[in-house]
Amino acid sequence: MTAPATPRSAMSGKAIVASQFDRAADLINLEGYMRRILMSPFREVQVEVPVRMDDGRIEVFTGYRIQHNGARGPCKGGIRYHPDADHDEVLGLAAIMTWKTALMDIPFGGAKGGVTVDPKKLSKLELERLTRRFTQRISIMLGPYRDIPAPDVNTNAQVMAWILDEYSSRHGYTPAAVTGKPVSLGGSLGREEATGRGVMYVMMEYARDFGVPLKGSRVVIQGFGNVGGHLARLVAAEAGAKVVAVSDVNGGIVNEQGLDVPALLAHGAARRPVSEFPGGQAITNAALWTIPCDWLVPAALGGVITREANARTVDCRVVVEGANEPTTPTADLILAERGIAVIPDFLANAGGVTVSYYEWSQNLQQYRWTHEQVNRELQATITKAYVGVRDLAKQRGVTFRTAAYAIALQRVAEAERLRGN
Ligand code: NAD
Repeated sequence: MTAPATPRSAMSGKAIVASQFDRAADLINLEGYMRRILMSPFREVQVEVPVRMDDGRIEVFTGYRIQHNGARGPCKGGIRYHPDADHDEVLGLAAIMTWKTALMDIPFGGAKGGVTVDPKKLSKLELERLTRRFTQRISIMLGPYRDIPAPDVNTNAQVMAWILDEYSSRHGYTPAAVTGKPVSLGGSLGREEATGRGVMYVMMEYARDFGVPLKGSRVVIQGFGNVGGHLARLVAAEAGAKVVAVSDVNGGIVNEQGLDVPALLAHGAARRPVSEFPGGQAITNAALWTIPCDWLVPAALGGVITREANARTVDCRVVVEGANEPTTPTADLILAERGIAVIPDFLANAGGVTVSYYEWSQNLQQYRWTHEQVNRELQATITKAYVGVRDLAKQRGVTFRTAAYAIALQRVAEAERLRGN
């Protein structure tokens, strides 16, 4: 099965996932009925969310919670607030969560939620009212053994604290009902940096296996938020890599000698764009993709590596998908033809959900792990997943993405069969 030659703009998140799904399902000869079960969501709700604005008006937003699959455990996935969040996007992301939790072999299924809203236009109080009302409307689906939300684009630990409060007001104090909480409300140490840290652990393994030593290597990162910022800090400080360029929504910055990442993080903490950092030369967002490097890490948005824009011209040895769905299927094929390896999103960026699992376990046990323990367990879990993918890719002569999908599909299909389907 070949991927459709459709640009991202004309292809929904659902269609992207479907084309990649088919390739992996063919590899493991998945039965037709099982494909149907695994492609369709288990349960989905759309809700209207009326919110009283500060000026007294009531504005009505639309929200979604989609549980893609719960055969292996409670559904798990973030909630995003974004003007483009719609049914298809949320469904595609919910499916990725199913494959991510299965690939990591953690006892969760996959879900995602979203509200179609531009949170930058809301005051903090409006955001709180929106969160509480959305939580009320979807609460019938939630619970520590049913469906556990987490932060995603434009939601954070504070939003999770409001969800926890709203849920607990009906069910009693239930910290395990949501992850990505503030540490003082039962959040896990190490959760905030977990996705970036997981990306680094996967890069370390790949570096060892494929002779792209991380120490002294050139790293370019799109996005300097939670994932990109922590990754930049960690690969420079703990792996000795040279972060030569990063970008944010306003533009990028390059320094051939390697950026001073702690200074750049301090600059960003003062809400200044990275392009105004004095320790490098400003570049446009488009120019970021042309910088020669060993590791290219999209860590901002979906659909940024495309046939039209940059798949034929990026100058790197490995693309590491820090963001969800940054590479279109057509671009994926072009990169493969060019001999550029791609470490897929649901392997590379699974550190966040893995530490969310540790957070949930700590809440259920009412016991706190140390930061060192969290990092140690994360490294063990993500490395084990990486090794499985690497070995299957080699054995079957397929890409890391197809191998990762095949492993995940196999695990979810087995759980479905054992449960009677
Ligand atoms: P974030 O909001 O903290 O940071 C996003 C960064 O991308 C910001 O620096 C922003 O300025 C930048 N950005 C936005 N538009 C850009 C553009 N056009 N060009 C260049 N940079 C741009 O988000 P995050 O939590 O770091 O998430 C980034 C990606 O990683 C998303 O795709 C998210 O779904 C995925 N992801 C995040 C986590 C997590 O734990 N945070 C886990 C798995 C996957």
